[in-house]
Amino acid sequence: MSNVLIINCGSSSIKFALLLKEQNFRIHGLAENLGTPEARIKGVTLGNQPVDIKIPNADHKEALEVGLSRLANHKPDAIGHRIVHGGTLTQAELITDEIVDVIRQATPLAPLHNPAHLVGIEATKRLFPDLPQVAVFDTAFHQTMPAHAYRYAVPKFLYTEHNVRRYGFHGTSHAYVSERGSELAGSFKQGGWLTAHLGNGSSTCAIWNGESVDTSMGLTPLEGLVMGTRSGDVDPSLHRFLEANLGWDIYKIDKMLNSQSGLLGLSNLSNDMRTLIEASEQGNEDATLAIEVFCYRLAKSLAALSCGLPRLDGLFFTGGIGENSAYIREKTLGYLPHFGFNLSIDANNNLKRGTEGRIDAGTGPQIWVVPTDEEGRIAQETENVVNGIYTTKKTEQDAVVA
Ligand code: ADP
Repeated sequence: MSNVLIINCGSSSIKFALLLKEQNFRIHGLAENLGTPEARIKGVTLGNQPVDIKIPNADHKEALEVGLSRLANHKPDAIGHRIVHGGTLTQAELITDEIVDVIRQATPLAPLHNPAHLVGIEATKRLFPDLPQVAVFDTAFHQTMPAHAYRYAVPKFLYTEHNVRRYGFHGTSHAYVSERGSELAGSFKQGGWLTAHLGNGSSTCAIWNGESVDTSMGLTPLEGLVMGTRSGDVDPSLHRFLEANLGWDIYKIDKMLNSQSGLLGLSNLSNDMRTLIEASEQGNEDATLAIEVFCYRLAKSLAALSCGLPRLDGLFFTGGIGENSAYIREKTLGYLPHFGFNLSIDANNNLKRGTEGRIDAGTGPQIWVVPTDEEGRIAQETENVVNGIYTTKKTEQDAVVA
């Protein structure tokens, strides 16, 4: 197989990428504002020319038709769909009616994402009826978590009858980064590692011998770290407090926690870490505090997740913030001296954007920066499924969602 088309469908947007294996080249596109008069496709051609096509009121299928018609001679051999929630499925799967049902049944757990993914699957099926299509789930990597890591301390029937448990997300990234990082460290898929995926959404993961044993996100991607606009952990009684004192209903509270909190909420300025670092340098105290809370909570999460590991070999930073900000890496590790982390200030500061490298001073747990490659991983998993390298592996928990 040479060309894999990666589709990441949101409710009003589609990110797509065609990975041309033989040429070792990727074509990217973004369709946004779908279903509105402002709908458009942005991208870059093979000749590196920017593309900006207006497609007023186009839906997902029309956007894919227009976007993919531009690929001319580069037809895909298979399609990989990034799917946020796969319930208790443990690996990527060829998309069949049964798998579509699992994605649909997991909709209450990812109400914004899974319906959009189903629209994308339907559209690509109509456009490419003969191509194999594969679902690659953000949740699948974390299905190796033990029950003591994935169960909440709430009444049992909420788990057995309503699937209330921790699932975890960003699995594609944590899987790729931990594999690549342990390979760089000379112990491929061996030992105990922590990953910190820090982007607009952020999460941590503990990995033992290549398998996720705990992660910071839970039932939904709201749990855990401070993120761009998401609060991460709050006292669940905050809901009751806001209802009783401000008269807020659950939808308003949910919106506040998902889209008005995190770095944006703390700083009252921006959800973007670069903007906050610049503002902090210019003396903005709210931006300074937002950064401090972000780093402290991240360190706290890493410390907590280390309990899932029999031994700690090291830590991998990834995502836009993890890959690019020496400042955030240094500040976070400043809260973890008792773990023996020994950052090389020079190596940390000198690491070039987009490159992988080791940044510890040679003692204590290793510290690496490993740029994530979710697209590459989705393409690889798609190929594995199509080539039959993965066999369908079901666990007894499948009965909970499937
Ligand atoms: P997404 O989760 O949407 O994929 P990214 O992984 O691209 O997001 O991460 C976006 C975040 O990375 C933003 O907060 C951005 O400010 C931050 N970022 C990118 N470059 C830097 C940098 N040099 N220093 C600090 N933060 C950065």
